[in-house]
Amino acid sequence: MGMKKRIFIFGIFSLFVNIIFLASESNNPEIPKYKLIFLGDQHVGKSCILNRFWNDTFTEEYQATIGLDFQNKNVQIDNQDIHLLLYDTAGQEKFRSLIPMYTRDANIILLVYDVTSKDSFLHLSDWLKIFTDNEIDIKDKIFAVVGNKTDLNDRREVKAEEGEKFAEEKNFIFLEVSAATGDGIEKLFDVILKKMLKNKQKLLPPPLPQPQPKPQIIKKQKIGWKIESEVREKDCCCC
Ligand code: GDP
Ligand code: MG
Repeated sequence: MGMKKRIFIFGIFSLFVNIIFLASESNNPEIPKYKLIFLGDQHVGKSCILNRFWNDTFTEEYQATIGLDFQNKNVQIDNQDIHLLLYDTAGQEKFRSLIPMYTRDANIILLVYDVTSKDSFLHLSDWLKIFTDNEIDIKDKIFAVVGNKTDLNDRREVKAEEGEKFAEEKNFIFLEVSAATGDGIEKLFDVILKKMLKNKQKLLPPPLPQPQPKPQIIKKQKIGWKIESEVREKDCCCC
């Protein structure tokens, strides 16, 4: 089977899993849902940032993300519960065609690069092309530029000022983190989630209302009618 065909089948499969997943997840309409997506080259540490935030764990062993992975959780920010859906993408070129589909309705975009890799930083502009190439409206979305692996400072190829300048020009949030030590991770999510709440982001559509169980209503009506008619009969006899 050709690679394009395999990617297409994978795309359909992941969309299907995604729909089932969203349908089965916490459907409490009172808790607003927000969607966050990680973008960036392979190996920059997207999955590790997610694991550090989610489980406070880190592993040096590389586990490639295949296509797309997602996590969801209720988190509290400023005393408000929100339901956060996190989409972790694979950086490989062959999976990029899948990304626009998930990026369109994302509320937050994390553009991740590795501070020890100049290339991964330069490629951020290519990742941003996803939005222009697919005519995705970015005005309601929150973007954050995230420089990861600050623990490897001696191998640094990108200065903090460079990342800051890139983000500032585009009016994006900028933060440096280390998934390995956990440095800056909590602050990153605190800053982006607070900004998102402040901006009163559009909520994802609430789940469809469940249909009322009709048989129960019919039964009630029948009983009501029966009681009413019995009373009338009694009244009738008294007369
Ligand atoms: P992804 O392809 O962007 O999802 O990258 P991963 O999260 O899988 O990480 C790629 C590699 O970088 C793995 O071997 C991680 O252990 C390593 N890594 C990720 N974050 C850090 C970090 O903050 N510091 C260090 N030293 N290594 C990291
Ligand atoms: Mg990954």
